[in-house]
Amino acid sequence: MTSVLVVNSGSSSFKYQLIDADDERRLASGLVERIGEPTGHATHDVPDGHWERSLEIPDHTAGFGVMLDAFREHGPSLETHPPIAVGHRVVHGGARFFEPTLVTPLVLINIEDLSDLAPLHNPANVEGIKAAKKAFPELPHVAVFDTAFHQTMAPDAYTYAIDAELASRLRIRRYGFHGTSHKYVSGAAARFLQRPLGELKQFVLHLGNGASMTAVDGGRSVDTSMGLTPLEGLVMGTRSGDVDPAVLIYLQRKTRIGPDDLDDLLNQRSGLLGLSGRKDMRDVIRAADDGDESARLALEVYLHRIRHYIGAYTFELGRVDDIVFTAGVGENSAEIRARSLAGLEHHGIEVDPDRNDSRVGGVRVISTDASRVTVLVVPTDEELEIARQTLSVVG
Ligand code: ADP
Repeated sequence: MTSVLVVNSGSSSFKYQLIDADDERRLASGLVERIGEPTGHATHDVPDGHWERSLEIPDHTAGFGVMLDAFREHGPSLETHPPIAVGHRVVHGGARFFEPTLVTPLVLINIEDLSDLAPLHNPANVEGIKAAKKAFPELPHVAVFDTAFHQTMAPDAYTYAIDAELASRLRIRRYGFHGTSHKYVSGAAARFLQRPLGELKQFVLHLGNGASMTAVDGGRSVDTSMGLTPLEGLVMGTRSGDVDPAVLIYLQRKTRIGPDDLDDLLNQRSGLLGLSGRKDMRDVIRAADDGDESARLALEVYLHRIRHYIGAYTFELGRVDDIVFTAGVGENSAEIRARSLAGLEHHGIEVDPDRNDSRVGGVRVISTDASRVTVLVVPTDEELEIARQTLSVVG
């Protein structure tokens, strides 16, 4: 009974899951957080138990020690379920990484070198990989990139129409993110529909705190709403999504705002939060229902942007076989799903209100039987996708 350990590291925390390599069962999951603070915190969950511990965790290496203690004390035993590889989520793979990649010293240097493009994420991912390599020196470690799935985009989709020499020198282009999720749910939708992935034209709406939409043609990403960074595209919890770039120039001239504050404004204080003072979609919907005008407008802007991309991707794909909703909002909000696709019956998209409102879990169809386009809800599972891709590398 072998397993794969999946690790997702942040700068002061990491999440892990141990996944059975044969039947893909989740054997354990956990979170080690507040690394480097006076009191760190760790949780460890197995199917029949939950543990928490507070203690000082000076760095990621100590964090993996805490994780190993949890496996020793609460199971499952890493001797009876030995990991055969460790899969790491890495946010930015630039144009260099287009598939899951065995981590070598050179690969680590390359991931570090992409830190300019993802300063909050890549250095933390590297730190996590280094610490995990110390904890599991004998195992292969595999990097699975959020950007990799979108490396199939053609130049017309990924090129910004700016000075070509400058763009090339500074690696400025669209990369796209949430790729692991888009790949997983588009594949799961094809399996559920019992149709070959290679034949399907679909688009995926990953609507969580971060949100992005991808046009998937025959299993390949042909366009996606996020760009150089995960800021472009849809309206998100705290991120603006698309704005006229001249707004930033205007703001700089008018307020003398610097790059760090601008970054904070657009990434942390915009989106639903900027419009309504609430970043959690449940709070925005509740406030709008209670008559709050700013929340109502925030929802309308959010939906307008989604519908804008639905139109664009429908024409790019030429034909749409299925539309997939996933992530926190996409999986749970019948209202957002219904309003995103309202009035599109003439385009063959017809949501069934009862199916849409149903609370059953798992993959499910929410369109009517007469709908030409099948609309599905597919719960995303990025960890499982990372485990699968890790296994594909180590055989
Ligand atoms: P992350 O991008 O952090 O992984 P999630 O995919 O967990 O985020 O999505 C979080 C978002 O999902 C939050 O905005 C939350 O309000 C929203 N959400 C969760 N449940 C519901 C629900 N029942 N109705 C509307 N939104 C929901």
